Amino acid sequence: MEIVAVPVFTDNYIWLVHDAASGETAVVDPGDGAPALAEAERRGWTIGQVWNTHWHPDHTGGNLAVKQATGCLVLGPATENIAGIDIKLGEGDELRLGDQVGRVIEIPGHTLGHIALVFDEANVAFVGDTLFAMGCGRLFEGTPQQMFSSLSKLAALPADMQLYCGHEYTLANARFAAHAEPGNAAVAERLARTEELRAAGTITLPTSVAEERATNPFVRAGDWEDFARLRAAKDSFR
Ligand code: ZN
Ligand code: FE
Repeated sequence: MEIVAVPVFTDNYIWLVHDAASGETAVVDPGDGAPALAEAERRGWTIGQVWNTHWHPDHTGGNLAVKQATGCLVLGPATENIAGIDIKLGEGDELRLGDQVGRVIEIPGHTLGHIALVFDEANVAFVGDTLFAMGCGRLFEGTPQQMFSSLSKLAALPADMQLYCGHEYTLANARFAAHAEPGNAAVAERLARTEELRAAGTITLPTSVAEERATNPFVRAGDWEDFARLRAAKDSFR
């Protein structure tokens, strides 16, 4: 499975996912259609599926353009209003890209229907705006209890699984993490590494489950009340 980042807007990533064996390609969260289509075309790939993690326009705004250009199928969370949706996904459902099999887990909190797409054999997961490197999404629709439980589900995936998030938020998250856990050497080291990467304009994703267990204060919270305190502190952190 080959995965390519297409940066759009200020800090969004669209992910192009290509299975060389079958020649099939999917696009994850195309907030904008044209850049996703252009990158696929540049590589000689034809998009056959759109996979959405949640309904927000910065993740679905290009659905119809991609569908119109390619005739692809649109797969997304069953309980959300997704432009052009053909296949509604919920907990335990399967999706496929060639012989690559993915499964759906529900991870509410950022939105109520938010899903993650987990490819066990390829060892990758697309987590949208629920978990970010060293951080997590804002609670627009769900409760702190829901979000803490969703992050716990993701943190329970295999340690070396690669996590593909919806935004490049790592530097701001690392600064908050260093403030929240001043004694955590892994956080300090990752903040320094992230500062270098971003100064060079380099992407900081994907992250891994192991890295998040070690450096993400929201994943490391002891319970949902701890989590809620951290989330509120992050919301007002400058
Ligand atoms: Zn979002
Ligand atoms: Fe987003």
